Amino acid sequence: MSQLNPRSDARSAQAFAEAKQVIPGGVNSPVRAFKSVGLTPLFIKQGIGSKVIDIDGNEFIDYIGSWGPLIVGHAHPEVVEAVKRTAELGTSFGAPTELETEMARLVTERIPSIELVRMVNSGTEATMSALRLARGFTGRSKILKFEGCYHGHADSLLIKAGSGVATLGLPDSPGVPESVAANTITVPYNDIESVKLAFEKFGEQIAAVIVEPIGGNMGVVPPAEGFLQGLRAVTEQYGSVLIFDEVMTGFRVGLHSAQGLYSIKPDLTCLGKVIGGGLPVGAYGGRRDIMEQVAPSGPIYQAGTLSGNPLAMAAGYTTLKLIGAPGFYEELERKGARLEEGFLANARELGVESTINRVGSMVCPFFTSQRVVNYETAKTSDLEKFNRYFAALLDRGISIAPSQFEGMFVSGAHSDEDIERTIEAHYEALKSL
Ligand code: PMP
Repeated sequence: MSQLNPRSDARSAQAFAEAKQVIPGGVNSPVRAFKSVGLTPLFIKQGIGSKVIDIDGNEFIDYIGSWGPLIVGHAHPEVVEAVKRTAELGTSFGAPTELETEMARLVTERIPSIELVRMVNSGTEATMSALRLARGFTGRSKILKFEGCYHGHADSLLIKAGSGVATLGLPDSPGVPESVAANTITVPYNDIESVKLAFEKFGEQIAAVIVEPIGGNMGVVPPAEGFLQGLRAVTEQYGSVLIFDEVMTGFRVGLHSAQGLYSIKPDLTCLGKVIGGGLPVGAYGGRRDIMEQVAPSGPIYQAGTLSGNPLAMAAGYTTLKLIGAPGFYEELERKGARLEEGFLANARELGVESTINRVGSMVCPFFTSQRVVNYETAKTSDLEKFNRYFAALLDRGISIAPSQFEGMFVSGAHSDEDIERTIEAHYEALKSL
């Protein structure tokens, strides 16, 4: 069985103290601060394949993978080589390059609903731009999103549910104007009846429905049978734009992404994470008649100094080529399934309440006996237990996201030995709770 890792965090603690003097909360993105789990965040020195090494010299099998992008593992030699080769020719031009067309061609081939695609620099930019486009295209203002889905931090999308079904939203953060929140309708995930109600009430005003086709920001929550089909039907009926936010699921759950897995054709798709291979990239694309409304071919404005950046395109393109290797996703599925099976067997043997949701390489253990189908049920997980579990895994050399509301990402770099070591550490961690 796996050994306790005598883990020191002295250097990380020192680095965190210094960072806090000059960076808000010491981090450039909140969840990295380990605040909810009450621990010192790991300051990372290096990533190699399935592993990360922190500045104290501790090594971890890593299931964060930079929060999703690193589907071929850390510092994959071919990705590193492509970035190096490209950098030697110049890092940015603000002029078109042929690589951007190659990238766009590859994306449109693999995701047929995307006829035209525009590169941006993050998932947030992708969803924000897709919403503007949907609003400009339809001439409508309201959008519908789902409770527990995260689509980046644009004002319209940082909205929590109002009280009651099919009511207008409330700002989720100071600084988001109520007038903006009032244009966002929020309903429970996997609840097509609430969507229909919202459309009966506001249908002619709804520009778009935006959805994670597999929920990945309330833990992992697969779409219920018929849910995505229902969204397709209702948006068609009312002339609203259906936006799949595949920032997390795009090229993660299959070469044709979640829309390929469930055979649904959205009008627009947002991408990020994997498509950048670890460099800052997002993208949005879809139906030609809608995308042609984007400047300069149309009047809807969206731009970016570093959009289509050569280094980012090189890393992303190389990653997309690597995942096209025969059997790549079958291997991810096999390893993901083994983790799920191992975790379930551990929980059963130790009598720990556990529900595991998984789609391919996205794996999420919850500390609840309920089926997790939306944000409400995700919140039935024992979060205090999760926090202790997180720390217990870290002490056994396993790094997962410091939040119950995130999945684990298996990459092509995880070996069978990594998976078995993780299952053993999971057993010991559960036993220690
Ligand atoms: N959409 C989804 C589904 C995401 O998971 C995320 C990030 N976790 C975003 C959008 C925002 O992407 P970014 O952090 O690159 O802005």
